[in-house]
Amino acid sequence: MSDSPANPIQDLLVFGEYGDVNPSITDSTTYTFLSPEKMEAAFSTEMEGCFLYSRHWNPTNKCLAHALAEMEGTEAAQVTASGMSAIASTVLQLCRAGDEIVASRTIYGGTYALFRNFLPRLGIAVRFVDVNDAGAVASAMTDKTRVLYTESMSNPLLEVADVRALAAAAHARGAKLVVDNTFTPMILAPARLGADVVVHSLTKFINGTSDAIAGAICASKAFVAELTDVNAGACMLMGPVLDSLRAAGILKNLHSLHIRMRQHSRNALMLAEHLRGRGFRVHYPGLAGHPQHALLARDGNRAIGFGGMLALDVGDEARAKKLMTIMQEELVGYLAVSLGYFKTLFSAPGHSTSSEIPEAEQRAMGLSAGLIRFSVGLDEDMHRTLARVDRSLQRSGL
Ligand code: PLP
Repeated sequence: MSDSPANPIQDLLVFGEYGDVNPSITDSTTYTFLSPEKMEAAFSTEMEGCFLYSRHWNPTNKCLAHALAEMEGTEAAQVTASGMSAIASTVLQLCRAGDEIVASRTIYGGTYALFRNFLPRLGIAVRFVDVNDAGAVASAMTDKTRVLYTESMSNPLLEVADVRALAAAAHARGAKLVVDNTFTPMILAPARLGADVVVHSLTKFINGTSDAIAGAICASKAFVAELTDVNAGACMLMGPVLDSLRAAGILKNLHSLHIRMRQHSRNALMLAEHLRGRGFRVHYPGLAGHPQHALLARDGNRAIGFGGMLALDVGDEARAKKLMTIMQEELVGYLAVSLGYFKTLFSAPGHSTSSEIPEAEQRAMGLSAGLIRFSVGLDEDMHRTLARVDRSLQRSGL
């Protein structure tokens, strides 16, 4: 990635009503029109700077969406009330009954459950494949495939997708490539590598303060217009609208994302090297032995690093539970799901964020019951943290 994705966000000059350095927050659900004719015109065509109703668009949400589109290098974006609603709205906009989706088998458990349990009720079939196996992807796709879906860095195994190759595979079949970039904002820009739609859970790194649930869909102007169409748009008609007060807060936090991602990445690399040095099995794309290390080095933003997520395999569930309990006592971080917080968060995905995936499939994809997923925090003094980790390992008998 040549230009820093922080640059266009920093150059977005949006002032508030009185020249405020932050855009004014629109705390209204509805908007007045000077005449009934102007109202009628606004409902029939998109009019720049004209707002109808806040489930459709809200000026504050538009500012956040605009900044996210700049970050991802897409023409436009839409923000939503959660990452799940961004994913659900995207696939429901792209697919109808009889269509098929080919999805990565290592994805967030909620997405997996949506695809495996919910979409088939609507007549949309989903096949799960190892997206790093080009042959498996090609043979899973049919003429009915509308969407190829992957995470840029998978949850929780931290496999990195080859977005360029997947975009070529999708486009060869006339399908769209949808990439969830929640784990790697500012590190990977999937749309610049060929993805058609990039979705985010803003709840995680982008907001970074673990106080808001939100999502985003970054795509072409045409697709965002489809999503917000008053007659047939998934966002407009299912209504997963983000509250404008939350949008304003997330926009402010977005301005420090590049600094936070760099620190998360630095700390995760230090922890990964430390644990590997002690002989543990560690999944971290910044380690030279990771299967997609070279891929992420090629496609990613090296100035930021390899991300803040790391997975440690301690072999079995009992050991994982003991270590997590002790790490919380030793102030390494919190035993909690989610990611992107200033404190380190850890959990065992097999029994939490990936519990929707049947155990046999977890094993087949390499998700062991002893896997602990870390979202490494913004600790200033990592040597102090590593000493706490060592004490925790020692107390756990590991
Ligand atoms: N995508 C990924 C990779 C996630 O980890 C999550 C949540 O953990 C989601 C999407 C869903 O996001 P949200 O909780 O904001 O709905």
